[in-house]
Order: sequence, then C-alpha cells, then structure tokens
Amino acid sequence: MMKKISVPALLVLFFAAFSSAAEQPRADVILVNGKIFTSSPAQPYVEAVAIKGERILAIGTSQQIGALSGSQTKRIDLGGHVVIPGINDAHHHLFSSLKGVELHFNSEEPTWQEVTSAIAKTVSSTPKGTLVFGDTGALVFETKEANRDSLDKLAPDHPVLLSGWTGHYYIVNSAEMQKLGLKGDEANPLGGRYVRDANGRFTGVTLEYATFRLHRTLNSLVSEEDALNDTRKFLSDAARLGITSVQNMSVPIGPERLVSLLTKAPTLLRMRVIHFVLTDEHRRITEEGSTLPHSPSPLVTVSGTKYILDGTAIERTCAMDHPYADDPSTSGWMDFSEKDMEAILREALQSNDQLLVHIVGDRSVKTFLDAMDATGGKAIWSKRRVRIEHGEGITPDLVGRVRDLGIVVVANPVHFTLRDLFIRRFGPETTQRLQPFRSLLDAEIPVAIGSDGPNNPYLNLMFASNVPGRPQESMTREQAIVAYTLTSAYAEFAEKDKGSLEPGKLADLAVLSQDIFHVEAQELPNTESLLTMVGGKIVYDAKKVSAQ
Ligand SMILES: [Zn+2]
Repeated sequence: MMKKISVPALLVLFFAAFSSAAEQPRADVILVNGKIFTSSPAQPYVEAVAIKGERILAIGTSQQIGALSGSQTKRIDLGGHVVIPGINDAHHHLFSSLKGVELHFNSEEPTWQEVTSAIAKTVSSTPKGTLVFGDTGALVFETKEANRDSLDKLAPDHPVLLSGWTGHYYIVNSAEMQKLGLKGDEANPLGGRYVRDANGRFTGVTLEYATFRLHRTLNSLVSEEDALNDTRKFLSDAARLGITSVQNMSVPIGPERLVSLLTKAPTLLRMRVIHFVLTDEHRRITEEGSTLPHSPSPLVTVSGTKYILDGTAIERTCAMDHPYADDPSTSGWMDFSEKDMEAILREALQSNDQLLVHIVGDRSVKTFLDAMDATGGKAIWSKRRVRIEHGEGITPDLVGRVRDLGIVVVANPVHFTLRDLFIRRFGPETTQRLQPFRSLLDAEIPVAIGSDGPNNPYLNLMFASNVPGRPQESMTREQAIVAYTLTSAYAEFAEKDKGSLEPGKLADLAVLSQDIFHVEAQELPNTESLLTMVGGKIVYDAKKVSAQ
C-alpha cells in the first residue's frame, strides 16, 4: 500500500530526479584510444572505458567516453593497445618453495639416469642433512628402481624428495621419511596409497591422497617468512601478467594459512580460497577451514569444496573404461567409490557449497555422472554449477549428460601437450575421444580456463587456440579469452560482478603489451600487462601507457 504523500513532496522528488539526470556523472579514470575486448557478446570491441569508484561507468568510442571526464578525471591514452578484462585463473595451486637444493633438469621428463646422476653430484657437494628435491615425470615413475632403496644408496645422509610434476606422486628416501614423520607402517588414507612391495614394505612411493597429505605436511615446514615472500612474488607476477582473479585450491597450503598469508601480504588481486578435503585412514576431514568467514577481507573469498576423484595419466591412475595400452594389468582407479561420491554430493547439497571435482578418466566421469543422477539428477543439479576440473575423459557419449546436469568444465590448455603420453597410455583410438575443448563449448557447456601449472595465461591461450594434433578442438582466441574471464567468473558465481567490461561491473582489466588477437601464435607467451587494474585501482604499472 502506498503511503499518503503530499503534492509538494512529489514535486521535490520530480525535480531531484530531473536535475540528477541532467547532470553528467564524472568519471574518475578514462581509458581512451584502445582496442578493448569486453568479453561481452553484445558489444565485443570498444575504444574506451570510463571508471567511477571501483566499477565501470560506461564503454564506447573515445569521443563518448571523453565527454564523461571532468577536471579531476585521470585520462589514460591507450595508444591503440589491446585491453581485456582481467584474467581469472580458475584453477591454481599456490606453492611455497622448500628449503634445500633443488634439482633442475632439461625437461619435465628427465630419465632415471639423469635424476640419479644429479642426486649423486648434489650429495657429494652439500652438507649432510640438506634436503635434495626435484620434479620428475612419467619416465621416472615408470622406472622400477625409482624407489626408497635406490635413493638410500645414493643419499644415505641426505633427505631426498622426488615429486611428480603432476602433484600426484612422491618418491622419498628413508632420511626424508624420518623428517616427514613417516614410519612406513602407516595405513593408507582413504583415496591414497603408500605403495608397498611384495613383502608389504613401503617403497617410498606415495599416490593420490597419501601424496596430498604430504603436500600439506611439507608446507607446514615452510617458515612464515618464506611463505609470505613466495605469496608476494606470486601476486606480483600475476599482476604483471594481467591476472586479476585467482581461484586457488588449498593444497598444498591449507585454507587457514592461505587466508592468513593473503591478509598479511596483503593481496591486491581477488583471491578465492577453495577448500580441499584431505583424508585419514578412516574418513574425509571435512571440518578443515569450516570456521573461516565467507569473505575474510574485501578481496578474499572462501567458498567451494574440491575433491580429487581419480589420478592422472602420468601415474596410470586415472580410471579408464579399458585397460591401459602400455600396461593392460590396470585400468586405473578411483580415489572414491560411487557411494562415497554420492555422500560427497549430498554434503554439497546440505552445505549449499559449490562442489569441484578433479576427474580425468572416462570411467570416473561416468561414475560421477551416475552419482549425480542418483542424488537428484538434472532437477537438483542443473543450477548448482558443479565443476569438473580437467575433464579429459568427457567422451562424446557423455557430453549431453554433462550439459544437462549444468556442469562447468574447467580446462587446462597446457595439458593438451600431453597428447603423445596419452597415445602411449591409451592408444590412438581412445586418445582421439579424450581432452574435449571446443566441442564442449559447441555443446553449450560452460568452459572456463585454469592454469594448474605455469602461471602464464598467454601460454594457455596459445594452446587453447592451437590444440596440438587436434585443430578442430581449438577455440578462437576471443572464445578462449571469454573462457578465461567471463566463464571463469561464472565458474565462481561471480559473473554479475566481473568477467566482462560492461557498465556496472568491477573495473578489473589489463592493458596488454601486444595484440593477442593478431600476433603469431608462438609470440603469445611473451605477452605481459602494461597496466593492470583491480576495482579501478592500478595494481601493476609498467609506465608504458601515458596517464594525464
Ligand atoms: Zn589441480
């Protein structure tokens, strides 16, 4: 019911409305003379943008936007440079570097021979007790001798830690076991394995959730000062690359520590902290980080829960429909049973928190979709934006189900370079049906992009728009930038606030050093930001675009 209101009061309201309409709002900052890709299908390219406070006031031609400037307005001449909405890395793992001597190899796939000679050399020249560590890949994992006993012979007095660059395996020696508090007789945690030999003795190799627990243990050994330095370095590198939002999985760094580091740093970028549930031998430890507020500070949010449902092709642990071509004794395994997956799904419903699941193999995709059907199917799930991370095994026959369940796929284009390994593991025919990308988009599935590795978005853009060996799966560069901005925002329920450059949205953007829509593909990884803004505030400035 309307309140009684007098005619003079109505007239006051009328004139107030009239005068404010006549008065142009003045921008705080305008960026003009650019080639601005907005990620908005309604108006993909504009020349200029006006910002007021932390949000975009208007977009348009340089002339239109110029008219919004007043005596206090800062004017940035883009000089024809390309501008994009700030990159939103939908899948990242913030790491802290370990103290010790890191082994460096010529590639991500060093041979066991290379690794052992590097260890021997390092051990002979560093004091006893120094940690020797390095990243290794499939070749080392496949080597029978790559175990605790071999490492003990090479380095009886130095802790040695070889980590799969996938983050899914470790190989440790006895000295490192002691440092980590591993006795070797530990029961396997749910979803993980301490690999044992025929006599039941721990080989030094960990898989899946046994590895993820160690990630956390190792991180707890990193000093606060080192962790803070690494956090600051990550944030400044990201700003220099035009990244304005990062969705970070809280492994290895746990959610409480991550929030504390981001508060202390302090972060200038928008950081989403996603719970990662670890396990012990009895259960999933779901209470970790549960008392954290949803928004501990204006730029930090805590939401979502991630599980890893199977492994990767490197360790032959992703669960496939068929036996592995190069080891028919296995078809991989799932970290959780279908019943566990149903329990996880029900918990997500109860807590009303977004669920994110790492899935690689086609068998695990199918099992997870079955679990979603068993817990309500399309009617319950289609609006909840359950995320499949990686999703290599979303084969053509599963695409329709993935779409109907409203699933968001977060892909990692750098992983497309693993095609040769996939052919070795799965054979050429199966490989042909794996790692869908453009075909998901064509089926109207939201596809976002996360780095899950090297932090460089333009390296990912290169592979997203030139999928090795499968050109038909390439997105256009514009589509890939939309995936990396607007769809990544959608993947965190934030598309109303960010992800495209439109009036009313947050002014998160990057002015780029080169035209990413036209340079040669191999030039893309050299792209940097000249100016990065988060909420209208400059968080990185290479001093190459002129401000007046
Ligand atoms: Zn990951």
